[in-house]
Amino acid sequence: MESQFVLARGNIDRDEITRNDPVALGAARRSADARFILCAENAVAVDPEDAGTLLKLGAKRAREWNSREAVYLGRVDGTPFFACDVSEILPDTDVKPAGTPMMRPLQYWAHEWSPDESQLAVMAISIHQWIRKVRFCSVCGNPIAIHPSGWQAQCENGHQHFPRTDPAAIMAIRDAEDRLLLAHNPQWAARRYSVLSGFVEAGESAEAAVRRETFEETRAVVDRVEYFGTQPWPFPRSLMIAYRAWTSTKEEDLRIDGIEMADARFFSREELKAELRRGKLTIPPRESVANALIVDWLGESVEEVMER
Ligand SMILES: [Zn+2]
Repeated sequence: MESQFVLARGNIDRDEITRNDPVALGAARRSADARFILCAENAVAVDPEDAGTLLKLGAKRAREWNSREAVYLGRVDGTPFFACDVSEILPDTDVKPAGTPMMRPLQYWAHEWSPDESQLAVMAISIHQWIRKVRFCSVCGNPIAIHPSGWQAQCENGHQHFPRTDPAAIMAIRDAEDRLLLAHNPQWAARRYSVLSGFVEAGESAEAAVRRETFEETRAVVDRVEYFGTQPWPFPRSLMIAYRAWTSTKEEDLRIDGIEMADARFFSREELKAELRRGKLTIPPRESVANALIVDWLGESVEEVMER
């Protein structure tokens, strides 16, 4: 079944066999049908003629873009895909020379791409976020070397390291009147409202994090928690674990600290639609779990609300 989350769609064969076999990996890298995508920070290169599809280079053209260190992503219908990190070699100027790839940020563009392309982009950005930061062994402090596939690292003492993911809970809290709790964080864009979220702490379950974060941020007490789904959010390395949840706390009993949260209110569906149409508030992009949770409660997408 296709995921309800834009960044969790697609059906890439991660092809662990080729990943772990240096000979097969080298052959896949040099093969005529290998394709290379380019990423930098949170963005990937799109086709200059059509931003609705990723730029996919053959091995020869990819050589200009650091393809020797490209990470093996896996196969789409048998075709091996690799990801080159071009963040160090993209021209850092306002006026880009001819031939500079057209980069588009994943968190605003993925809904334009096919499910498989969207997943390739998520994988490319996730793995290169890790590789850029993992320089020294966290056990002995020696420099580490990245495995040719890109999916593990090792120091000279044999300590192994793997890409890390940080779990975060995100929750759509409803009150007794089926209104949705939305909050505004002063670090977000002006007028941006969203559901609550927070990192799962060491030794904590995600469900406990839902209750703790909700109470810490708003003093609302969560009565019931229901699993909704997960998607990766590689900015830089979160896995969002989404829940529907219910509270009997009343709006007048909500308390916010004014620092992490500047406002928190329950919205009825009609109130939220009216404020969206009047431009009084915005919600996170379609790529986010927050958006999927809000749409799940609202019963229609923001685009549908705005059309009427
Ligand atoms: Zn070590």
